[in-house]
Amino acid sequence: MRGTGQFFVGGNWKCNGTKQQVAQLLEQLNKGKVDSSIEVVIAPTFIHLPHVLDTADSRFEVGAQNCWSSGTGAYTGEISAEQLADLGVKWVILGHSERRSLLKESNEFVGEKTAYALSHGLRVIACIGETLEQRESGQMYNILDAQLEALANQISDFDNVVIAYEPVWAIGTGKVATPDQAEEVHLHIREWFTERIGEKDAEALRIVYGGSVNEKNAAELAAKEDVDGFLVGGASLKADAFVTICNAH
Ligand code: PGA
Repeated sequence: MRGTGQFFVGGNWKCNGTKQQVAQLLEQLNKGKVDSSIEVVIAPTFIHLPHVLDTADSRFEVGAQNCWSSGTGAYTGEISAEQLADLGVKWVILGHSERRSLLKESNEFVGEKTAYALSHGLRVIACIGETLEQRESGQMYNILDAQLEALANQISDFDNVVIAYEPVWAIGTGKVATPDQAEEVHLHIREWFTERIGEKDAEALRIVYGGSVNEKNAAELAAKEDVDGFLVGGASLKADAFVTICNAH
């Protein structure tokens, strides 16, 4: 951890959980001892948000996994940033690779959604990442820079943004990036932002790693200078593992 920002851990619950499973996970999380120096966000499905907001210990902030790119209105099936903010949600994950690939969300669309969410008081976990094919063909930095560029075209103030570097080949595969691979890309992202928003803001920006983070590999990754936290998928559904990851810093 290099920057002045607080170590950050997000739990992306994805499309998981029944009412009963969510209640049980929360009960276990609420009993967990998470170090007070760490900022922790849990992101359930939209339908579980009210229950999580009511029940989660104040130790946990609550996030959504997506939102629409503009206000309320004739957008069937969507949820707006205003509605999330009204509910008491503080964070939203945008640009996750599953949405980019399965729902064809473009860099520009993710940039638009990020700008809109920020302008309505939400804080954003903005995800970027390359596929294995892009990495192996030497395209990785072009891909990542284009994803960053699309964000920076719409936003100049990154105070309320956390960048999640999530290599697509590491998500849900059990194939975690090595600490050196993560550090190399995080440093590149930090340098990209240093040029764009200046050194002070780039140092304060949290750049977190996501992709098969678990209770065993978290400490080694967290030891890297430019790894400012994690976005955790699968392991965030197990309270013990998630608490261990939070405290791995
Ligand atoms: P994973 O997912 O930890 O299950 O690899 C991470 C993510 O998609 O945010």
